[in-house]
Parts: sequence; structure tokens; C-alpha cells
Amino acid sequence: MFIKSRCESAELKQLRYLHIRTNLSEKEKRHFSNLEKGYEGELKFDMLLDNLSGEWLILSDLLFEVGNTIFQIDSLLISQKGIFLIDVKNFEGDFYIEADRWYTASRNEIKDPLLQLRRSESLLRRLLQDHKLNLSIEAYLIFINPEFTLYQAPRDLPIIFPTQLNRFMKNLNKRSSKLNEKHSKFADLLVAKHMNESSFTQLPNYDYEQLRKGVICEGCQSFLISVEKYKLACNSCGYKEEIKSAILRSIEELTLLFPDRKITTNAVHEWCEAIVSKKTIERILTKNYKRLGYGWSSYYVNS
Ligand SMILES: [Zn+2]
Repeated sequence: MFIKSRCESAELKQLRYLHIRTNLSEKEKRHFSNLEKGYEGELKFDMLLDNLSGEWLILSDLLFEVGNTIFQIDSLLISQKGIFLIDVKNFEGDFYIEADRWYTASRNEIKDPLLQLRRSESLLRRLLQDHKLNLSIEAYLIFINPEFTLYQAPRDLPIIFPTQLNRFMKNLNKRSSKLNEKHSKFADLLVAKHMNESSFTQLPNYDYEQLRKGVICEGCQSFLISVEKYKLACNSCGYKEEIKSAILRSIEELTLLFPDRKITTNAVHEWCEAIVSKKTIERILTKNYKRLGYGWSSYYVNS
């Protein structure tokens, strides 16, 4: 059972919007693509976990601080026999290990993903000790992409390769168990300790003026939108969306990118590049947000 499910990080969403509305540098594009790929891999793994039989408590995407150190866990499975800490990597292509260092096929050194796993494991162990919980931990690094190969890997590493994933899941199924109150209390504790925002986000600098305005097509991310009766239609892919839903989506983008900007009819009108009238925007805002203040100084907040 999923106790805490996964959702896209604010950083990933922000980068996606910025990628459409401005020009990211090559480095920023790489970072965005890594985040997107990583998230894709984690979702794939969640789908496998969905088929687990027996009693499991599953927590996805956790962020903790223990002794001034912040660490992140992709998936944590709680069973009667102990805890499985899992890091999922969606690496694609050929990699090799040489003298304990990891490299891509083109000889670029990458961060050793096992170091990160070991660090998370030891910090999680500390968290358990702090709460006087006696549960064993097994930590695994899972490579989910079938196009991944790692040369020269010692056999005793806690790694599950794509070709071993089915067997790994079968073994987990064999170990299914009965859970009790102790386990659910522990899961509750983890959810309570989870921090929402990472301080590690690497967002590019951007300002309002520099971003392209307009409504983005939900189907193909283009700006080629025209208005039909109650819908917005994309001239590029033909996707149609209710005006209301497209405007609400654009407002969400605006608030995520500029949390300090007040949501007003004018602000949304400008952000959507005047694709619909101010009257329509005001009607959508009034129905879906709470209005604060009066007249010219009024603005909207989440109701
Ligand atoms: Zn489109």
C-alpha cells in the first residue's frame, strides 16, 4: 500500500515551464533532462511496486534532515522483516567502474551513486536509533532502464540491474509479511518528518519580463493557440481544452514561477497574452479563488 505517493517536484515543474518560456543554457537543459528522466524512472519503479502482494507500506520520495544533513530517499518499503531503502536510477547507455570510480562510456567521471545510497542508509539508521526503533535496513541501487550496462562491476555490490529486476520483485513478494501497529507508527513518523522542499534546487535566474507570455498547449507545449467558442484550440497539434482549465493551468504556472506576484485579473490577462477577455478571466478567478481587497487593489488567493 502506498502511504506516500510521488509527485513531480516544484523544481521539475519550474524548469519545464522555463524551458518553454525562455532559453535555458546547455547546462540547465542537461539538469532539466536529468530530473525528468530520473522522475520517469521512479514512476516506472512505482508501477512495479504496485503489483507487490502481501502487506507492505510504501513511501515514495522522502526528504529528511538528520543532524543538519539533508538526505533524500526514492522509495522506502516497510515489511515485517525490515526496511528496504531503494534508490532508482534511470541511466541509459554504457558505464564502467575503475578503481572505485564511475565513468560514462566517453570517460567522463560521474558521481558514484553507491556513495549516495550508503549515506542515505547510514542517516536512516541514525533516524531509527533516535526513535529507538529496532528495524533492519537493506539498501539497493536499482537501474531501471533496459538500455543500461555497467562494465567491470564487482559482484558483491548492492545493485539490481535491469535483467535482475523481475527476480528481485519476485523475491520481495516471497518476503511479504504481516504488519502491525509498530510499522504503521513508523510510517506515520516518516511522513511527519518528511520535508516538503529541498534546498538543493538548481533553478536558473529568471525574471518576469524575460519570459514569453501566452497560454501553452497541454498537448504539445506550443504557443499556437486560438480561441474557439468555449475552448482553446492548438493550431499545431489540434488539441482542444476548455478555456477555464487552460486559464487555471496558466495561473498555476504563474504562481509557481513567481510566488510573490499578486494574482489579479490584469496580471493573468497579461500572462496569458490577452487570449481571452479580462471579463472571462475575472469570472474564472472569482469562481476558483478567494478574492481579497476591493476595487483596484483586489487580488486573488487559493480558496
Ligand atoms: Zn498543441
